[in-house]
Amino acid sequence: MTGKRDFYDVLGVERNASQDEIKRAYRKLALKYHPDQNKDDAEAEARFKEAAEAYDVLGDADKRQKYDQFGHAAFSQGGFGGGQRFGNIEDIFEAFGDIFGGGGGGIFADLFGGGRRGGRRGPRAGRDLKIALDLTLEEIDEGVERTISIKRQELCGECGGNGARKGTSPVQCPGCGGRGQIHRSQGFFTMATTCPRCRGAGKVIENPCDKCGGNGRRTERGDVNIEVPAGVEEGMRIRVPGAGDAGEPGAPRGDLYCLIREREHKAFQRSGPDLMTEVPFSYAQLALGDKVEIPTLRGRVEMNIPEGTPSGKVFRLRGQGLPVLDGRGRGDQLVRVFIEVPRKLNDRQKELLREFAEIEQERSGSRSFFEKIVDYFN
Ligand SMILES: [Zn+2]
Ligand SMILES: [Zn+2]
Repeated sequence: MTGKRDFYDVLGVERNASQDEIKRAYRKLALKYHPDQNKDDAEAEARFKEAAEAYDVLGDADKRQKYDQFGHAAFSQGGFGGGQRFGNIEDIFEAFGDIFGGGGGGIFADLFGGGRRGGRRGPRAGRDLKIALDLTLEEIDEGVERTISIKRQELCGECGGNGARKGTSPVQCPGCGGRGQIHRSQGFFTMATTCPRCRGAGKVIENPCDKCGGNGRRTERGDVNIEVPAGVEEGMRIRVPGAGDAGEPGAPRGDLYCLIREREHKAFQRSGPDLMTEVPFSYAQLALGDKVEIPTLRGRVEMNIPEGTPSGKVFRLRGQGLPVLDGRGRGDQLVRVFIEVPRKLNDRQKELLREFAEIEQERSGSRSFFEKIVDYFN
């Protein structure tokens, strides 16, 4: 355990700072400790990384909430590799490049690559397709196999994809003699342009296919089987090679990309492979200690509450989190206990509580409530 600085202190902002203030504070620090301004200064580099790490959490509403609740414990494992979110400076530029005014960049800039550009000549590859997959934490815990019905382009069964009516075939383009390009001489120069008639394919269809109108492909519904490994996270993509649109005859199919989306869970919040939950207790349970059963994703687990446990304490149930993707082991489950004050008490309960309060009063002598608060903060 290293003495990690509080993220709010690192950025020098109040705990209730707005997202805008946090962003401004980070930008200021990032510029101040920027490696370009501080050549070979290890201290500045450390500050630069520290600020980026703080901003990575506080700049994200979701992560910030977890941090507020669980502190550094929320990010001490798994995805954050012992708190080393950024291995080197380049990672930081990649993640927050846009904050420095650089163009493009950003973690999610290339979330979806555009469809492949076909070659100028020759058959074109099929387009890549994208879908979203909504998964529950339980599904992520175990990994799932899903069969999904998607609409995609398939080669026309009637013409086999060449677009010509049954019994005929495409013929050599008379415009270019099948070369796909037209050469024009302009003085010294010879310019090659794509043949407008066949658009570079070198062949034209004289009698288009009835089924596809000469297109060679038709939109059809088809099933795709997707295997999702255990431990995936929101925003990840799973590629299913060759499950996209069919290409022109002789060209490869496109791929299918599945974007993972995580459904919110009633009881658990997630941070990398760790799961977090809040569990209410009575004052008596925390004061006297108790043995309780805590719900986990895979059933109940016994947890020991020691005598005198303060409200807000976070317990760690080892190995009760999610599996680590492509790795061994599992994350932990963090359990934050808190006191739930009962809304209604019966007379007997009230009587006992009053008696309890009287004893407390005697034990603490004649100190006023205010004095006790002052003591507490000292
Ligand atoms: Zn056809
Ligand atoms: Zn042509």
